[in-house]
Amino acid sequence: MPATVEFMDGTWTVQICTKTGLSSCRAKVLIDATGDANVVGLAGLELIDPDIVQPATLTFGCSGYNPDALDYDALKTASDKAIAGGELVTTDVAWRDDGPRALLRKYGDNANHVHAPEAHTSEGRSRAEVEGRKALLRMYRFLCKQPGLENFQIDWVCPEIGIRETVTIKGKKTITVSEYESGVVYNDAVCYAFYPIDEHLNDGKGINGRPLKDGTLPTIPRGALLPAGSQFMLVAGRCLASDREANSALRVECPCMAMGQAAGAMAALSARTGIDPEMLPIGDVLALLQEYGAIVPGD
Ligand SMILES: Cc1cc2nc3c(=O)[nH]c(=O)nc-3n(C[C@H](O)[C@H](O)[C@H](O)COP(=O)(O)OP(=O)(O)OC[C@H]3O[C@@H](n4cnc5c(N)ncnc54)[C@H](O)[C@@H]3O)c2cc1C
Repeated sequence: MPATVEFMDGTWTVQICTKTGLSSCRAKVLIDATGDANVVGLAGLELIDPDIVQPATLTFGCSGYNPDALDYDALKTASDKAIAGGELVTTDVAWRDDGPRALLRKYGDNANHVHAPEAHTSEGRSRAEVEGRKALLRMYRFLCKQPGLENFQIDWVCPEIGIRETVTIKGKKTITVSEYESGVVYNDAVCYAFYPIDEHLNDGKGINGRPLKDGTLPTIPRGALLPAGSQFMLVAGRCLASDREANSALRVECPCMAMGQAAGAMAALSARTGIDPEMLPIGDVLALLQEYGAIVPGD
């Protein structure tokens, strides 16, 4: 983990935490791929920290029952009663207020929502881990008491809770949801995105989801990977500069991987030439990406 980040005389110095103490690294160009923009924050650059963020999920697998033999209407009535009595929280057993049917049909999986504010900090992240485990315990204690679920068991739990959203960078360019949904091809586009709007909501309200119109293929501009006020620094991943709805689509794995490759290519070119990533001829960036098999805008 980075401890301090400093840019001086054209070089980045990063102190990283090792098992035996702090160690210092130097780099011509930095890429922040922490998802949480931790390096950008440590460099003192501006972050956007929304009041509301999407819930997290503690993914798990379960067994010990026959999903075809369960009375889902009775389970919904029982879960409503347990929620009203404070024994259970709606999002312990479902993304929205429809009882544990999906959880039981899918044998667990990505089935709960956990409120996880400030999860880009160690404190917030720790709270989310604790809340996720409390949610699982409430779910387990409730389900074990229901007919047909007497032998319900949790088989495995992900070692870490999955965080959907924390902060984004203030970028040299911010992707808006209207740009995203209209499939703008930016002059400095470095890769594609593809996913529908997919904003998970807190408090059992499910998802704010919207498919893209047929044929719409959004792009990601270089400027959204460049922290405002920075030099020789890039981000890749879900903390790119984007409004919340655009981010709900941009955050998924394929765009994150494409951003990673684009940021890597720009960092390599920048380190080789001494030119800031913002000023690199975009044709050179796309040519290098294509040389390594990337699908780039215009292909
Ligand atoms: C429950 C859940 C289900 C999802 N389902 C899907 C799906 O079906 N399909 C899909 O495409 N996407 C899905 N997503 C979204 C997607 O997985 C993530 O948004 C995406 O992986 C984010 O990529 P990233 O590179 O930005 O961050 P990450 O993949 O989180 O990578 C960041 C890395 O940096 C490390 N790190 C963080 N902070 C520090 C630090 N300070 N120092 C050192 N290392 C650090 C982390 O340990 C991690 O390895 C899901 C997300 C969740 C939470």
